[in-house]
Amino acid sequence: KRVEFISFYESIIERFEMNKDDKVNFVRSLTKKKMYVWIDKDKITQVLDNVISNAIKYSPEGGSITFEASTTRKQLRVSITDEGIGMPPDTVDKIFDRFYRVDKSRAREMGGTGLGLAIAREIIDAHHGKIWAESREGEGTTVYFTLPLMSQKRRDKS
Ligand code: ATP
Ligand code: MG
Repeated sequence: KRVEFISFYESIIERFEMNKDDKVNFVRSLTKKKMYVWIDKDKITQVLDNVISNAIKYSPEGGSITFEASTTRKQLRVSITDEGIGMPPDTVDKIFDRFYRVDKSRAREMGGTGLGLAIAREIIDAHHGKIWAESREGEGTTVYFTLPLMSQKRRDKS
């Protein structure tokens, strides 16, 4: 379905903001422009839910989570940055593998299955986008994904 991404993204951020405790602060850095994408809304909601809940889960008391959305000519790029525990450089690509958790004992404590990001990658692949992460141990993590923007033509038609 054709979706205006920024308002959709904001509604998901708002849902988390209503339910979160005061442990983390939310910072928004979103373009004011309207951005149309052709997506399965439920599936992309699942991606955002997992990435945002990971960011909250691994954030320290008082940490900020920054929500960004920007565009290049053909693509929308979304990023979610936390100031949490981060991870070693050699693991940042592995977190998209099924059942992979960075630290087994830490992961057990935190709960979850280690499937969230593997599913997110499948969903983003199916949308012809890319998903990746950048992280520094002890400093924080950013998860990025891209989605193709709809062309002006398709936008007018639908
Ligand atoms: P599930 O999402 O199934 O509940 P999960 O959150 O452990 O479980 P993923 O979302 O796939 O699984 O994440 C995989 C692993 O990547 C996590 O267990 C964690 O070790 C690491 N990870 C993911 N996001 C972050 C983050 N923002 N900061 C630090 N580590 C992270
Ligand atoms: Mg998760």
